Amino acid sequence: MKDIEPADGRFLEYAPAPESTSILKVRTDYGLFIDGEWVQGRGKSFTTISPSSEKKIATIASASDADVDAAVAAARRAYEKSWAKLSGSDRGKYLFRIARLVQERARELAVAESLDNGKPIKESRDVDVPLVAAWFFYYAGWADKLDYAGLGANPRPLGVAAQIIPWNFPLLMLAWKIAPALAAGNTVVLKPAETTPLTALLFAEIVQQAGLPRGVVNIVTGAGDTGAALVRHPDVDKVAFTGSTAVGREIAKTVAGTHKKVTLELGGKAANIVFDDAPIDQAVEGIVNGIFFNQGHVCCAGSRLLVQENVHDEVIDRLKRRLSTLRLGDPLDKNTDIGAINSAEQLERIRTLSDIGEREGAERWSAPCEIPENGFWFAPTIFTGVETSSTIAREEIFGPVLSVLTFRTPAEAIAKANNTPYGLSAGIWTDKGSKILAMADRLRAGVIWANTFNRFDPASPFGGYKESGYGREGGRHGLGAYLKSGASK
Ligand code: NAP
Ligand code: MG
Repeated sequence: MKDIEPADGRFLEYAPAPESTSILKVRTDYGLFIDGEWVQGRGKSFTTISPSSEKKIATIASASDADVDAAVAAARRAYEKSWAKLSGSDRGKYLFRIARLVQERARELAVAESLDNGKPIKESRDVDVPLVAAWFFYYAGWADKLDYAGLGANPRPLGVAAQIIPWNFPLLMLAWKIAPALAAGNTVVLKPAETTPLTALLFAEIVQQAGLPRGVVNIVTGAGDTGAALVRHPDVDKVAFTGSTAVGREIAKTVAGTHKKVTLELGGKAANIVFDDAPIDQAVEGIVNGIFFNQGHVCCAGSRLLVQENVHDEVIDRLKRRLSTLRLGDPLDKNTDIGAINSAEQLERIRTLSDIGEREGAERWSAPCEIPENGFWFAPTIFTGVETSSTIAREEIFGPVLSVLTFRTPAEAIAKANNTPYGLSAGIWTDKGSKILAMADRLRAGVIWANTFNRFDPASPFGGYKESGYGREGGRHGLGAYLKSGASK
């Protein structure tokens, strides 16, 4: 990215500061991890690439229906023979061991995640991987306390959990799924996304290192077909899915009328609401974090900025100035703020929706970036003059694109914020505590941040309203989703 001229006229130059990849030993081929062993997939193998260079990382096995069947059978055996029979404190010990191994291998996992996904190393190193460890530590602590979790008397595990995750936070979404499931005494078969299987496969090594009984954790790689086979498998007791609303709908249809329990964490189109009494510089940082963190590939991203009309120009000016300082480029460089878009398909979707935004009359501004020659990139972009009815105010872009709308009164802000089929998150920026509480009461969103954004903690439940899905992950609620007599039964 071009260096912009600061107020005092001095340029600040950054030297390249790439994180070394020597810590990461990637195999050329990965099989499926079933029943504690690596086995060959019977489906057509595929490659995972680094989206910043388009270079191949490894060949990945694809699980056929028969492989999925073998994985579910292994999980069932492990459930009956070992895992559900262990005491909670013994299950907890395994989870603590996993958490510590994640910490020990943190640098390697961060490098793998940035390589495979395209996200900046400072995010995978400082956010994703520490949160993964935190999730395992948190649920390890619950494993022997299920009777005291307020989830009813003698809560029981469900059995075999089928878990399907997306590509935006590959290892973190794995942790959100696996940690509570195991703490509650379930066994799992997890399918990572096709474009980001690497850290789930490294996690399989950690499972081996931790000495978990075979079959407790199974990792099956593959495309949507593998996920669909897992969802419809008759011996699965629970389906936990994070991904798009379209696939979530399919899954809800497939499991309807079966004994399977289901949680769906789907898309979002969150409003980040800035009042005129907000500390503007702080709000600008929150707006940037809200939509440009992880290239905007965040289900709870603050993708709709609702700014009070009288501070609109000031906020947008400061935001543009701030965005001009963001550095786009090599995800493994420690100074990089904006990494690569995860795939060519996702880049195409972002481009298409942005073009529609322009055609529908919104004004487009993109940060002045040098786009690298190879790889998939999209400069941080703001659309001003967006109407509530605009496509880019309604559809999830899942990229570094912010749609800006204005409001005059709190009532108008609430009406606009809730005018969406989604309801995953929202943000409020004001210096009045009472305003925060009054707004939070009326916003239809699962998570509401006040004077901050995109903050996660394993103790805090996360999930959506309306088309953002149902069920909660995280906290005690997340545990209930994997138990028979649970709060979120
Ligand atoms: P996606 O297409 O729905 O994919 C999610 C996962 O489902 C992937 O592993 C995918 O495999 C698999 N899959 C695809 N078709 C399937 C089918 N018919 N049956 C079962 N599994 C199937 O979503 P995505 O584009 O990867 O992820 C982006 C979406 O996820 C966004 O809408 C975002 O908002 C949402 N998301 C939500 C949360 C949340 O917590 N609410 C968190 C992160 C992301 P392939 O990778 O092979 O396609
Ligand atoms: Mg990849």
